[in-house]
Amino acid sequence: MSTTTTATTANAAHPSSVSALMREIEHLGRDRTRGGYSRPVYSHPELELREWFLAAAAARGLDVEIDANGIIWAWWDRPDGNRSGALITGSHLDSVPGGGAFDGPLGVTAALAAVDLLRSEGRQPSVAIAIAVFPEEEGSRFGVACLGSRLLTGAIDPDRARSLRDADGTTFAEASAAAGFDPRHLGPDPSRVAQFSAFIELHVEQGRGLVDLAGPVAIGSSILGHGRWRVSFTGQGNHAGTTLMADRRDPMVAAARLIVGIEEIARTVPGARATVGRLEPVPGGTNVIASRVDAWLDVRHPDDDVTAALVERIRTRASEVAAQQGCEAVLVEESLSPTVSFDANLRDTLQHALPEAPVLDTGAGHDAGVLAAHLPTAMLFIRNPSGISHSPEEYVEDADADHGARALATAIMAVEAAPH
Ligand SMILES: [Zn+2]
Repeated sequence: MSTTTTATTANAAHPSSVSALMREIEHLGRDRTRGGYSRPVYSHPELELREWFLAAAAARGLDVEIDANGIIWAWWDRPDGNRSGALITGSHLDSVPGGGAFDGPLGVTAALAAVDLLRSEGRQPSVAIAIAVFPEEEGSRFGVACLGSRLLTGAIDPDRARSLRDADGTTFAEASAAAGFDPRHLGPDPSRVAQFSAFIELHVEQGRGLVDLAGPVAIGSSILGHGRWRVSFTGQGNHAGTTLMADRRDPMVAAARLIVGIEEIARTVPGARATVGRLEPVPGGTNVIASRVDAWLDVRHPDDDVTAALVERIRTRASEVAAQQGCEAVLVEESLSPTVSFDANLRDTLQHALPEAPVLDTGAGHDAGVLAAHLPTAMLFIRNPSGISHSPEEYVEDADADHGARALATAIMAVEAAPH
């Protein structure tokens, strides 16, 4: 694929700043309708971003491989080429629809900048460093977040992954094949995972924690448990003009009542967040009573039992509101990630290395949360003055981004030196 971006070649005298790297990709995947960026996995803009990353890695002499799950690994090898005990960093390049510039790309550009910084200082970690780019972290195209890291670690069945469909009906297997991967080879790669000693993911903060603490960088403590469910209401598709109100079985009305109900239910549970951010009526015509409406539900809470109980209350409410409209409701789990606490030893090491950085948890999911079940993982969060994310208003100051790359470089050297 040809690419319209030019990756900078950093050299020891001129390490790249994060903002310079971000500027190289700022034109890719802009969404003129929603604002911000729409970079769904394996879409044209996301493939261009991947090409940009491959060029940026090659310009630095990093050895690049793309594994069977579409994860890109850019290696800064030890002189002897030994990759056992490698330390990984990186993030993702896909986005939600109309997302911000920094969610994902900040972790990738900061990783490149951190490598540049260490090299400019003549420092070489004692273990290999790999910068990873994980596909479909947002789950915005195929519905399952962190799909690349789930496939890598066996957290999702490859058959299920292959059969996931996007809004146009394209399966993940088809999209993978179109992007150049043989979908028959999707699946767990335990020997690769066993190579790694730790993962540090740098990410824009997605809330107001650091704004309130007036600091540029925080160390992650945990990721709130979260899950996605699809609620499908089925009724009777019919003519909007000829069908009397009393004769209708309208699943859109049931969906609307459920959305209001979810808001009521979630407000009664301290710390809970429940959202319906996507609704799809079938067939979706102005003068048509829908025959089916699918609503997608996102629920999060620090206590996984509370999340489960909340979803059961929502399931019951869905059945009640469906019955009121003469419809039926089915609630299906699409993904569920329990609350993850990051590795305590790794966090201690980071706190020693970055004594100014506060410790924060997050309500947002990340590949680091999936990998945490298999190796020590940690996160660094970078201040987002707007406190807004998954929106064009997400923002990071240039100086904070560079502060983040410096913190990541410091973290890498502290972790590789720590006893494992
Ligand atoms: Zn992200």
